[in-house]
Amino acid sequence: MQPQLEQLNAEIIACRKCPRLVAWREEVARVKRKAYRDQEYWGRPVPGFGDPHARVLVVGLAPGAHGSNRTGRMFTGDASGNFLYSALHRAGFANRPVAVSLDDGLALSDLYITAAGRCVPPDNKPTPEELNTCQPYLEHEIEILKPKVIVVLGRIAFERVLRIYSARNSAWKFAHGAAYRLDAGPWLVCSYHPSQQNTLTGKLTVEMFDAVWTRARSLLEME
Ligand code: SF4
Repeated sequence: MQPQLEQLNAEIIACRKCPRLVAWREEVARVKRKAYRDQEYWGRPVPGFGDPHARVLVVGLAPGAHGSNRTGRMFTGDASGNFLYSALHRAGFANRPVAVSLDDGLALSDLYITAAGRCVPPDNKPTPEELNTCQPYLEHEIEILKPKVIVVLGRIAFERVLRIYSARNSAWKFAHGAAYRLDAGPWLVCSYHPSQQNTLTGKLTVEMFDAVWTRARSLLEME
């Protein structure tokens, strides 16, 4: 792991800046879901994960209660993660299509996954203040990685990245498949979030999601 990222991740894991989220992540870890009652939950902020030399940065929303808040790795151990990693595997960014635990052998190539918020929020909804408090971690990751392509999963991640780049262009709207070139910076590619709310309703299909990663790769090749 790149030393700067390692140091940043250690700082993230130790963070207790948002009292509401600290209380919630620890409560979820204590109460647990019945199916996982014999497991020890992570119950802490979830650091970024992936290739420390990645040119593609993926920004999600926040950890899932019984997914990454349980396993300690982004998008690991729930249905959203299964949808994401199978697509990344088909696109050649992941060495396996499933993510179950920290020691499952999953490795990413040229891609790093992070999120706008690092602690599981009640109802999957971090407040704007909590996202503001967490934003410096994402800014720091971007400074370290200097990605060529940023794929945002959902509108909140889209708005966060625009904020970080102080990008103001009224023509830029969040829409699945849209891509914008940030001034003197990376490409920004929009995707619906692979939550079950989207994947089970057909709002986000496998084909639509695959097209996002094909687009990300073709933008890399243009660089
Ligand atoms: S959401 Fe971010 S800033 Fe808030 S406690 Fe978690 S890691 Fe810290």
